[in-house]
Amino acid sequence: MQGSFKIGTIAGIDLRVHYTWLFAFFLIAWSLAFGYFPNSDQGLGTATYWLLGIVSALLLFGSVLVHELGHSLVAGARGLKVDNITLFIFGGVSNIEQEPKSPGVEFQVAIVGPLVSILLGGLAFLLLLPLRGSNTPVAATLGYLAITNVVLGVFNLVPGFPLDGGRVLRSIVWRISGSLRTATRAATLTGQVIAYLFILVGIWLFFGGNVFNGIWLGFIGWFLLSSAQSANSQVMLQSMFQGVKVAEVMIPDPVTVPANISLQKLVDDYFLPRGLRSALVVQGEQLGGLITLGDIRHTAREQWTQTPVGSIMIPLERLHAVSPQQNLNDVLPLMVGGDVNQLPVTQDGQVVGVVTREAIMRYLEVRRGLGLNDPRRAA
Ligand SMILES: [Zn+2]
Repeated sequence: MQGSFKIGTIAGIDLRVHYTWLFAFFLIAWSLAFGYFPNSDQGLGTATYWLLGIVSALLLFGSVLVHELGHSLVAGARGLKVDNITLFIFGGVSNIEQEPKSPGVEFQVAIVGPLVSILLGGLAFLLLLPLRGSNTPVAATLGYLAITNVVLGVFNLVPGFPLDGGRVLRSIVWRISGSLRTATRAATLTGQVIAYLFILVGIWLFFGGNVFNGIWLGFIGWFLLSSAQSANSQVMLQSMFQGVKVAEVMIPDPVTVPANISLQKLVDDYFLPRGLRSALVVQGEQLGGLITLGDIRHTAREQWTQTPVGSIMIPLERLHAVSPQQNLNDVLPLMVGGDVNQLPVTQDGQVVGVVTREAIMRYLEVRRGLGLNDPRRAA
């Protein structure tokens, strides 16, 4: 997630905070300091209410963190790599690098979060029992944590993707149907229905005079909607490339240019006559880098005759070279994440092909033309 900073590490997992979280934190601390605490404990000063609000908001976010740790630790124990946990305006998210390999794993990873929240809520309630009836700040704080954690757990069990309940639903449909694609479609569809309901209720509250809650609910609905849609298209894309190797999609034997020729020669002999926008650069037999129209443009025209290609190319270390045997699904994130339009394909350091966005689109079109749209099973 862009715009987040690291606050620590637990069990090898980076804990990050997105800047939008600060807004949510302030809002919750403020609403507690001016609403909840003055209503439950009369006669304390504004500074004390603020302190209680801040401490309770921190404890709430600590609870969200423990919920996410539940997901992450179970995922880690089932062999999935967890990159980080990020707190943001709507709560927390565990960034697990791979999708679960089986419905059983998906179910366990998903269900543990809400269970942790409900347990935390229960724990706060147990601690509250001996204090009940006393109007102390500790009792009020425990009461707040008991309610919010149980609400958090129950809310996350709503069966719409990307909520945990949506993942639970997906794992069940996956187990019954045997198809991740069908399961994802079902879970994201219910996710979208639920998101629209949130938005509708938000609008209804807004026009009913409950402006703040209306906007808030509408935003949550909008967030859920876009998450459900992107999860759906991501899984659709992944299933289309299931079992497809880089070698099947790459353009074999792409044009390569020697590193020691001048830019002038590159333009006259390669780029202009062949209509190229970029070319891989080789040093001897080995891949050395990539040169694009932009790199040439940034060099003054008078210097084209004296400047060797090798001195201004993008060096190998900054290219993501892939091998022909790799799964296309594993290399796609390299192209989607950065502003990378092409990946050189090398075998023992030698260029054997190039994967471009256009090549992938063409591959899909040919498959569609042949009626081969069913996802392949991995061998
Ligand atoms: Zn969760």
